[in-house]
Amino acid sequence: MYLSDTTEDTLCRCCTKHVPNNLKTMLVTINSEVVYLCPTSFYNLESLRALYVHYLTEPPGSVRKHYSDYIQMLAKQLQA
Ligand SMILES: [Zn+2]
Repeated sequence: MYLSDTTEDTLCRCCTKHVPNNLKTMLVTINSEVVYLCPTSFYNLESLRALYVHYLTEPPGSVRKHYSDYIQMLAKQLQA
């Protein structure tokens, strides 16, 4: 993981508009695919990943619903 300079190639895809706009993104490798995440998404992914460890499987929907569809998708890919 490292902080990247913000360019068109290193934008976070969690939403279309980040505030503040020029957030540095973190590079995360998911199944050898590179994904760039803003600080909030990075934190949320780490948080949901910890819940996968806690539940030893996919957390129940009542827990996952607090995370965006994008983060849920990435967390699921991390388990694959
Ligand atoms: Zn983002």
